[in-house]
Amino acid sequence: MTVDLIKLIYELSKKELSKHVREANVYWVSDLVRCLLKRDYEIKYPELGLRELFTPAFIYGSMIHRGLQSILKEIFADKVMVEVESSKEIKLPGSSEKVVIKGRADAILVTDEGNLGIEIKTSRSDMNLPHDHHVDQVMIYNWLFNLKYSLLIYITPDRVTQYEVLDRILDSEVADRVLDTRYPRYPWECNYCAYSVLCPYKKTPR
Ligand code: SF4
Repeated sequence: MTVDLIKLIYELSKKELSKHVREANVYWVSDLVRCLLKRDYEIKYPELGLRELFTPAFIYGSMIHRGLQSILKEIFADKVMVEVESSKEIKLPGSSEKVVIKGRADAILVTDEGNLGIEIKTSRSDMNLPHDHHVDQVMIYNWLFNLKYSLLIYITPDRVTQYEVLDRILDSEVADRVLDTRYPRYPWECNYCAYSVLCPYKKTPR
């Protein structure tokens, strides 16, 4: 029997990607914490984003997620849910248009005090933790899943640490993010963007 582990990992990554199906009026939480133009490009040029499917960083992150989720399951059994999906409809200001915000939490732990979100992040370095866009993401999850609070956990080569995120975003702030036209949202984003090869807004660091 020939065992091809690389092909197996590739298929797993493909499956991971297929969970984020694009629909015209649906915004994933991840869209709201990064350059929103990437969402448009993913709809228009889906093939360009596929190269991210097999980057070692993506695979590494995905393995850490699976590992920690299995550990949580082992410890908390049916008190913990992993890969939990939820959605909420919001109205955009100044129009009758409604959009759906969808998100998938890494894990939700049911406690006597209420539900607690767990968001797992990997990073090459432990500088400047926690990152603003990760805190924003978790604040949106607190809103979307009606969580008491969330733990943002970082697994890095130099530090394994967690942050409590108590705040939750407001409906109006979510709508503002859907309408945001700052491209990119963060100056460093273009360096890692698959669409930088065609984007007129690309920012090049000096
Ligand atoms: S290149 Fe920069 S501005 Fe253009 S889509 Fe990518 S992140 Fe956004």
